[in-house]
Amino acid sequence: MSQFSQLLLNWYQINQRSLPWRNDKNPYYIWISEIMLQQTQVVTVIPYFLNFIETFPTIADLAQSNENKLMKAWEGLGYYSRSRNLRVAANQIVTEFDGEMPATRNELLALKGIGPYTASAIASIAFNEVTPAIDGNAFRVFSRVMTEASDIGEAKSRPIFENIGNQLISESNPGDFNQAIMDLGSQICTPKAPECEICPVNSVCLAFKSKTQLNFPKKAKKIKKKDIYLIADLVMNDENQLLFEQRADVGVLKNMWLFPMREVDKAEYLAIEKLAVGQVKHIFTHLNWHILLVPELSFRIAEANEQTRKWLSLKALNDYPIPTVQYKLINKIPKSFFK
Ligand code: SF4
Repeated sequence: MSQFSQLLLNWYQINQRSLPWRNDKNPYYIWISEIMLQQTQVVTVIPYFLNFIETFPTIADLAQSNENKLMKAWEGLGYYSRSRNLRVAANQIVTEFDGEMPATRNELLALKGIGPYTASAIASIAFNEVTPAIDGNAFRVFSRVMTEASDIGEAKSRPIFENIGNQLISESNPGDFNQAIMDLGSQICTPKAPECEICPVNSVCLAFKSKTQLNFPKKAKKIKKKDIYLIADLVMNDENQLLFEQRADVGVLKNMWLFPMREVDKAEYLAIEKLAVGQVKHIFTHLNWHILLVPELSFRIAEANEQTRKWLSLKALNDYPIPTVQYKLINKIPKSFFK
């Protein structure tokens, strides 16, 4: 057993929360409680759990439940699809597993509404399968203990944390290990104010040693993209050359050559829309460009002679850095526009 696991289980023996679904290892009770606990606090779940198992004492009772009775038992918990999935899964258990809750993580995963975390929680707590249950608490505790910097928001990080869980988990008592992680994560290793001084695993926690606990877990912030509205001038001279403009030496697409563009507000953009011969949307990491391609017949030649502007034929474009968005605009030019 890892030292981490030993320390954690010693602490759990004394400090575990007394919860009604922990009174025995009934897999049905563990299943119902785990589904209820998704997005809902423990204190809220307790009365719902007690009422639910009184209303539907067995998996067979749940499988035969009618919609109204089921909804009534779930009323106030929200995410009603969870309760419908419970009934579908209960029917699967009756027809495919003789009414007995399947005992392995893999079989549990085949049931409606049971994902990797819930399958591991049931399999380890009720059937002693050695499988780490990775939820938000486990991501947080494992990332801190091991200073693991993989982004927990990315699907590819899950196997990394499962691997850590497999290294740390107690082989003799995987169910208590998983429940202890849940308790540690919700009571001591909390997201914003971990109580490291009283934490039972602080002697083996790398984040505590390096005072970096608040840097973990890593999760990239979702960037809200800004919408930018642009008018691209489509200007042609008598030699079928198009007017291009080099962008400034800073910012997006710096130094590249595009049609002359100017930013407008959304209202002006919508007002000009009917004059456009084409429309392009281009997505950058932080920005969405909405561009209208508008033939500009009154463009002054003087402006075209500025150093950052050039008349270019389509063949000449190979000699200039031209971004993808510009090619999208070129594809929107009507054939009739060329002389
Ligand atoms: S020492 Fe601090 S950061 Fe490390 S597991 Fe404990 S509470 Fe979390």
